[in-house]
Amino acid sequence: MDATGSNLSYLDPARREPWASFIEQIDRVAPHLGQLSRWIETLKHPKRVLIVDVPIVRDDGTIAHYEGYRVQHNLSRGPGKGGVRFHPAVTLNEVMALSGWMTIKNAALGLPFGGAKGGIRFDPRSVSRPELERITRRYTSEIGIVIGPDKDIPAPDVGTNEQTMAWMMDTYSMNVGGTASGVVTGKPISLGGSLGRREATGRGVYFAAREAGLRIGTPVLGARVVVQGFGNVGGIAARIFSENGAKVIALQDAETTIANEAGIDIPAALAHVAENGSLLGFAGAKRLSEDDFWQLDCAFFVPAALEGQVTPARARAMRAKIVVEGANGPTTPAADDILNERNILVIPDVLANAGGVTVSYFEWVQDFSSFFWSEDEINERLERIMTNAFEATWQLAQERKVTIRTAAFIVACQRVLASREQRGLYP
Ligand code: NAD
Repeated sequence: MDATGSNLSYLDPARREPWASFIEQIDRVAPHLGQLSRWIETLKHPKRVLIVDVPIVRDDGTIAHYEGYRVQHNLSRGPGKGGVRFHPAVTLNEVMALSGWMTIKNAALGLPFGGAKGGIRFDPRSVSRPELERITRRYTSEIGIVIGPDKDIPAPDVGTNEQTMAWMMDTYSMNVGGTASGVVTGKPISLGGSLGRREATGRGVYFAAREAGLRIGTPVLGARVVVQGFGNVGGIAARIFSENGAKVIALQDAETTIANEAGIDIPAALAHVAENGSLLGFAGAKRLSEDDFWQLDCAFFVPAALEGQVTPARARAMRAKIVVEGANGPTTPAADDILNERNILVIPDVLANAGGVTVSYFEWVQDFSSFFWSEDEINERLERIMTNAFEATWQLAQERKVTIRTAAFIVACQRVLASREQRGLYP
């Protein structure tokens, strides 16, 4: 890999992170797949990788180039689906791993999608709003050859939001000469977005935590909760935990770590972030060291920032009963084993953060029919899909005596590989 993090050597024996984690997770599930395991290599090779150059004229007249990606990991069960990340640490390797986890998540939930992901390596806070719009539009135009309502449907992820999706929808629509609202999800409501989408991932994290807690005698009511990452996922999850009687005792974002044993006032913290961009300077809690944060005694620990955060050292230090993965890939496979040995229950990303893509699915369906559902209908359907998927995965984990992650991967891989087998190989 060169200094910019860009290359195609994903089959390198060194198997760099986080794609290496994804491959290891696939290797672990292979022995559970019976005769379908002969198709397992399908999941170790992304179907399609697109690298695009995104040049723009900056506000000062200079030309800047950014590198963007769209990876379609697997399309056996339907069009690609997965977010777009704007972050300075985005690499092809990372986007590939994220696309693989989308394949697993969509299949584990029974959604009729394959897995995809996209991203551009840059810091969206380092450019002006007009520059951000130009980057987004040029990127959309460049990946326009592989996306579309029946091909691959992007959505928000780290560093992107409803406005990004509005620009992407408009750019794609201009290029095809129509209004293609179904080309992205997570749009503003006025452009065919779905009620409840913005909160869906955090709400789903809460449902997953509640279901896990119910099964091991750890109710949310009165529970101590720690959340890493206070953006779309972590911020909403913290809010819904506290609305349901839990005490959120510590938070961490990219700028700071804070704690309050009496429970942090989450609406006040959210208002502080809306005004100041981060938790830094929030008066309702004390600063906490990074090490202390990972050792807090709590019922639920929600990593909701980036991948690779729960390392083996942190897994050995953690004093949580249940880890609910709001982020994608927050726990390395070695750390996962340590948590398992220490009897800390892990609810994996592919189940715990699936609320976002589930409501994205609802949004896509609503756009096709141009008929929109009420927020209550959406939240009820989300709760039903999440709790059913949780129960099925939990049962399988008990029957096979495997972790919840392995059980979710078994369900998902069986569905993907059975579709692959039924479709057959072309030509
Ligand atoms: P976001 O940009 O809204 O928020 C990210 C948060 O993490 C911010 O508070 C940021 O300050 C914090 N953060 C970044 N780096 C950090 C670090 N090193 N240490 C501590 N905190 C750090 O992003 P988001 O949409 O909330 O996504 C967070 C995670 O959830 C990602 O892994 C993403 O892939 C995953 N996810 C998001 C969605 C969604 O619908 N947005 C759905 C499923 C999964």
